Amino acid sequence: MRMCQLLVGLPTVTVLGVVDLLPTAPLAVHIETLCESPETCSACGTTATIKDRDAVMLTDLPVFGRRARLVWRKRRWRCPARSCAVGSWTELASAIAASRLGLTDRAARWATFQVGHHGRSVKEVADDLGCDWHTVNDAVMAYGERLVDDPGRIGPVDALGLDEALFTRRGRWRTKQWSTSIVDVVSGRLLDVVEGRDSLPACRWLANRDEGWRDQIRYGTLDMSGPYRTVFDTMLPAATQVADPFHLVKLAGSKLDEVRRRVQNETLGHRGRKDDPLYRARRLLVMAQERLDEHAQDKLTGLLKAGDPKGEVATAWHAKEAVRELYAHRDAELALEWVDQLSADMRDSSSPPEVRQLGRTMRRWRSQIAAWHQAQVTNGPTETMNGLAKRIKRIAFGMTNFRHWRIRVLLYAGRPDWSKLATVTP
Ligand SMILES: [Zn+2]
Repeated sequence: MRMCQLLVGLPTVTVLGVVDLLPTAPLAVHIETLCESPETCSACGTTATIKDRDAVMLTDLPVFGRRARLVWRKRRWRCPARSCAVGSWTELASAIAASRLGLTDRAARWATFQVGHHGRSVKEVADDLGCDWHTVNDAVMAYGERLVDDPGRIGPVDALGLDEALFTRRGRWRTKQWSTSIVDVVSGRLLDVVEGRDSLPACRWLANRDEGWRDQIRYGTLDMSGPYRTVFDTMLPAATQVADPFHLVKLAGSKLDEVRRRVQNETLGHRGRKDDPLYRARRLLVMAQERLDEHAQDKLTGLLKAGDPKGEVATAWHAKEAVRELYAHRDAELALEWVDQLSADMRDSSSPPEVRQLGRTMRRWRSQIAAWHQAQVTNGPTETMNGLAKRIKRIAFGMTNFRHWRIRVLLYAGRPDWSKLATVTP
């Protein structure tokens, strides 16, 4: 038994026996806690008596290539005092397992690391342990929440970014459910996610931080959307707002796409088919100009000649390239002038309506766009940020419970202090 206890590795338990029914079934190790002195009632202090025992089956880590179960013969205590209202209670031993969880403490910590750090699915981990999805998920949520809500996780932030992310689709019409990612833009670290993409949840999140933390944020990066502007205006009024280049370039690209599809329809009367010149040009159009070799350039010119009689697609293409070029400039002094010039050109009456609209958006966000040249906060970490977005998306797959999703995403992309996993208790 001494050797058996060593293998089971829990200092405060007695091993009662090991049940090995079938080579394919999990090994069942029956234990009870060492009971040196009986418990006393928490209300009246009377020495308690044992009422009965519950055998609680816990999923443990596999041993010697076998799945394992720990069968904890829990004592149920009763207060014998007649006048006492306490009645009975079950013993607790968090070193064995946290109450109400179906995994042992060590299996729960291991599962949290597998799901949270390695980004493995709950199902995979449940298959390893030979238990069901909920048992693993409950444990990962309980331990994981302590790690992600550790106040030390969110350190000082110089540039705070807000970005919308699709969380899930819900209901009969598969309605998109949005969330807002709150990001440390410089290090590419996910600070938190809040439900929805309006201003209130993000405002509330910022209001819950202390004032000193908010005060040291110098820049706020955002897509060009009103709600996030409201968040910064109200919660971080001193921070310089910076329009995320990624979103402006993306917007210019989608305007080009709109023009192409409209011209396609106006000239040929149907949506793009594989032999239509504009349809054939669609990939070349979205490529960056410097990535087009001479052959590709000629091909694009030829296709536009054939499919774009009024030169509207070409105008939109030039607008897209000009927006990209905006970010090649490095002179902060002249940035605002460039933005104004570009947006004025776009709003010219000869421009296609989609491009004029882009110009109006740029005028409305002129100072935020130009501020990038001063801050350049989202320049370097763009790759990091794309990687972060991918990580978030990967976790999002198929999840519908926001609280679960938040914990999973933050464990995976929020850089919790994993050295604390050994000590947090749910
Ligand atoms: Zn009592």
